[in-house]
Amino acid sequence: MRILVTGGAGFLGSHLCDRLIEQGHDVLCLDNYFTGAKKNVEQLIGNPKFELIRHDVTEPILLEVDRIYNLACPASPVHYQYNPVKTIKTSVLGAVNMLGLAKRVKARILQASTSEVYGDPNIHPQVEEYWGNVNPIGIRSCYDEGKRTAETLFMDYHRQNKVDIRIVRIFNTYGPRMNPNDGRVVSNFIVQALRNENITVYGDGLQTRSFCFESDLIEAILRTMEQTERCEPINIGNPTEFTILELAEKVISLTGSKSKIIREPLPSDDPKQRKPDISKAQKILGWQPKVHLEEGLKRTIEYFRSCV
Ligand code: NAD
Ligand code: UDP
Repeated sequence: MRILVTGGAGFLGSHLCDRLIEQGHDVLCLDNYFTGAKKNVEQLIGNPKFELIRHDVTEPILLEVDRIYNLACPASPVHYQYNPVKTIKTSVLGAVNMLGLAKRVKARILQASTSEVYGDPNIHPQVEEYWGNVNPIGIRSCYDEGKRTAETLFMDYHRQNKVDIRIVRIFNTYGPRMNPNDGRVVSNFIVQALRNENITVYGDGLQTRSFCFESDLIEAILRTMEQTERCEPINIGNPTEFTILELAEKVISLTGSKSKIIREPLPSDDPKQRKPDISKAQKILGWQPKVHLEEGLKRTIEYFRSCV
């Protein structure tokens, strides 16, 4: 197939491009390089089945494709809050443009949604039926509400225009090719530990996240696209939950770092807990994550050793 990956030069997009090329597809990797980099896909450049397109998803584009994976959007709070108006435009106009393209060429399209659609959840673990607890006017809203509106657009294009859609709600995912300046917790802690700098825990560090390794996530995305049972959202993530403090301690011990843990203020609207209920993914995709945090952290640390 001819497959378009928007955000293809980013952390997850580049791993997805690798897997699609391995499977023998023609891949069009579209990116504006806001948080992504050509370096992430340098191994594919020159492959006749791979094509790079510099483009911004807020602008329409005419292409002929069979599948669209819509990943374009900064994912780190630091980067999505840098230009919040652009972030919401990327989610909303990006969805409109990619859905319009899917409709015109009758392509199947998958949206990379997020656990952030649940906001600061008061149902734990989070099931797909939960509507969320999202602040519509806070500093995270450009991302959360942008992604929620994108889900609405996907469902409406499906109901109104019969566009063949898939939606995955991705929970915190980490691994090699995260940008060292990304600002998300796993990359921050590893980079700080490797440089023997202070590890910055925000708040009391008792907030929780559940961390999924990139290869598990990509496998689930590929399976979601090709299953024909469900177009509504599916949670994808690793349900093993850790506090941020536990993560900091693990990173220090795995790197053998001399870093000390320091406290910094908790950013506003920072969710207190997050853990996916993945029963639907297990049932529909026959999938479950395989890589434990310790193993995934070791592989990620190895990657960062070569670039910091
Ligand atoms: P990333 O920042 O590494 O990748 C995003 C990519 O999109 C980058 O290459 C960036 O340059 C590109 N991009 C941003 N705005 C664009 C625009 N207007 N036009 C074209 N390209 C644009 O982040 P990631 O972790 O790889 O995330 C990929 C997708 O998965 C995002 O949509 C994100 O919201 C979603 N997601 C990721 C996680 C996670 O933990 N990694 C969790 C939930 C959702
Ligand atoms: N965090 C932290 N130190 C950092 C970066 C993040 O303590 O240097 C915390 C952050 O406040 C949040 C959690 O780690 O509670 C996960 O943050 P991240 O930005 O990775 O993603 P989020 O899940 O909040 O979107």
